[in-house]
Amino acid sequence: MATKRDYYETLGVPKNASEEEIKKAYRKLAMKHHPDRNHGDTSKDAEAKFKEVKEAYEMLSDGQKRAAYDQYGHAGVDPNMRGGPGAEGFGGFAEAFGDIFGDVFGGGGGRGGRTSSGRQVFRGSDLSYAMEISLEEAAEGKTTEIRIPTWDECDTCHGSGAKPGTKPITCTTCHGAGAVQMRQGFFSVQQTCPTCHGSGKIIPEPCTVCHGQGKIKRNKTLEVKIRAGIDDGQRMRVTGSGEPGVNGGPPGDLYIEIRLKKHDIFERDGDNLHCVVPVSMTTAALGGEINVPTLKGAAAIDIPEGTQSGKQFRLRGKGIKGVNSSYPGDLYCHVRVETPVKLTEHQRKVLKELDESLKKGGEKHSPTDKGWFDKAKEFFS
Ligand SMILES: [Zn+2]
Ligand SMILES: [Zn+2]
Repeated sequence: MATKRDYYETLGVPKNASEEEIKKAYRKLAMKHHPDRNHGDTSKDAEAKFKEVKEAYEMLSDGQKRAAYDQYGHAGVDPNMRGGPGAEGFGGFAEAFGDIFGDVFGGGGGRGGRTSSGRQVFRGSDLSYAMEISLEEAAEGKTTEIRIPTWDECDTCHGSGAKPGTKPITCTTCHGAGAVQMRQGFFSVQQTCPTCHGSGKIIPEPCTVCHGQGKIKRNKTLEVKIRAGIDDGQRMRVTGSGEPGVNGGPPGDLYIEIRLKKHDIFERDGDNLHCVVPVSMTTAALGGEINVPTLKGAAAIDIPEGTQSGKQFRLRGKGIKGVNSSYPGDLYCHVRVETPVKLTEHQRKVLKELDESLKKGGEKHSPTDKGWFDKAKEFFS
């Protein structure tokens, strides 16, 4: 906005000047600068001065306008506005409040705000990045580098968006304020200027490299620390690593969403891990020690005699310690009894002998059979 001389200063009267004093001062100056009395070189200058004096007098001779001007300055009275009684003061009044709204909206969390110079500021956009990591990496945590696309100041125009040698000009719609007043009944609503989209400037000749945006897309490398225990779908926020703000607004944040790669052995369920452990038919029957995998190497567990398929063994604390957990979860090993294949003649013979012996022994060797056959009978009858 162009700076305007103070109305009292223009007329050369004190702020508490009476109506009579203002009238007197105006007459004197109007006579001096009247276009009819000035010709030649000084005429243009005089005309401008005359207009200035006339406007000052019009404002200060009207009690209502003078009061608005005293309270809000030039923003309180807009000589270009025409309307019903008091309309002149109203638009200016809302304009004067623009800065107050700007403070409310611009307080860090808001999307847009207003600087003391009146330009609209915006917080930069948040960026989101999906990162796939292994279960081991999630359990241990890791520091890694990522490359993210981001906006950087254009080297050619140094962020102005204007072609080198040219300059952005003040927006003619909002006069650089970045916002316009929309009147709705008694209310005056402030909206982002549709011409300059809040920047307060128009670029007549845009920079050819950034197309007037003043910024260009680049990849930036960022070191990020993945917290130990992080789980699939969890997000990490890297404050301030999003896109830069507009007109000096704060940058957005970067969100890293974690995706866990499928693991060959373990399945994760929160802090617990599950795995399937094949156990040979004979070990399941006779009992014995077997090796099971954990995230930190193999561990031995004792299988009792007569272990059935589907039985689970819990290894306390061998799961994962989640980001918000105090203790690590557990590892559940699910037994899957394996039927032997590719038998030799001898093995076949031994198994047949075993089979006959088991049949002779009857139901006592088959803990699940009796119940199952009863149910099947009921089902088919
Ligand atoms: Zn540029
Ligand atoms: Zn504008």
